[in-house]
Amino acid sequence: MRKYSHPLTISGLQNRTVKLRRSLLLLFLILVHSLFASSLSLAEDPKIFKTRYTDISYTDSKALGAFLWRIGGKRFNFDDDPALAKSRIDRIIDRVMDVLDMHPRRFHVKVFVRDKYKEGRVAYYSNKDASITLYADKITDGIFAHEVAHAVICSFFVKTPTETMQEVLAQYVDKHLWSDYD
Ligand SMILES: [Zn+2]
Repeated sequence: MRKYSHPLTISGLQNRTVKLRRSLLLLFLILVHSLFASSLSLAEDPKIFKTRYTDISYTDSKALGAFLWRIGGKRFNFDDDPALAKSRIDRIIDRVMDVLDMHPRRFHVKVFVRDKYKEGRVAYYSNKDASITLYADKITDGIFAHEVAHAVICSFFVKTPTETMQEVLAQYVDKHLWSDYD
């Protein structure tokens, strides 16, 4: 009397088939999931546009174009002239440093360009990861300069100044951004 079932009995064979089906199904699900995940990440993969002071992260090149247009005054295709695009961003940052008379060494800020404004602030600075997030369809050079001022102030001082102090200085910057250029 054998109590265990031999692997080649009918029930053993059925068991194997069920196991095989289950693992095939699992494999199929993994495959579908990875395909879906890769197409999703492809759609949302941010592109990076590097300038002297910034890494501009964007998903839609139209949004990057709108951002450059709104801070620079003239519409142009940044692919045709990346050097001009870079200088538009960096000259505002140079100007902010001049107005504040603060020139932090190796200044660098990340900029996340979002395309469609919905609610809340048009732009904000986060000191946690030294990044500015902005909405390309609403940004102005003044607002951008204001957020850059926060970044410059935070990177200039060893101890991060209070929000109030930063705000006073940053508002001074956006008011005086081009005041002596007339
Ligand atoms: Zn502010």
